Amino acid sequence: MFIETLKTMKLYKRESKLGTMHNYHRKNLIYVFKCDACSETFMRPKSKVDPGRASNDYKHVCNKCDSKKFAQSVGVKMRNVYKLDASSTKTL
Ligand SMILES: [Zn+2]
Repeated sequence: MFIETLKTMKLYKRESKLGTMHNYHRKNLIYVFKCDACSETFMRPKSKVDPGRASNDYKHVCNKCDSKKFAQSVGVKMRNVYKLDASSTKTL
C-alpha cells in the first residue's frame, strides 16, 4: 500500500574553476510503501516508480517478497471473494 511521499535533501559540494567550494543541494522525492505481502515499510525513489503506482489502486511488494507469488495469492483471494458473492445471492 502507498503510505506517503517524503522529501529529502542531499547536499553536494562542487569546486568551481576558481577553486572556491560551492554547496548545492538536490531535492529528491521518495515514496514510502508498505509491502502488501509482509507488511514491512520500504522506500523507493520517485524516479524509479511509475507515477500511477503511487496510489492504493495498486498492490506494492518489497524486494524481499516475491511479487509474482503475491500476485498469485491475491488471485486466489479474489476468486474466493467472487465465490462468496455468488453464493450469497442464493436464497436459502
Ligand atoms: Zn515484503
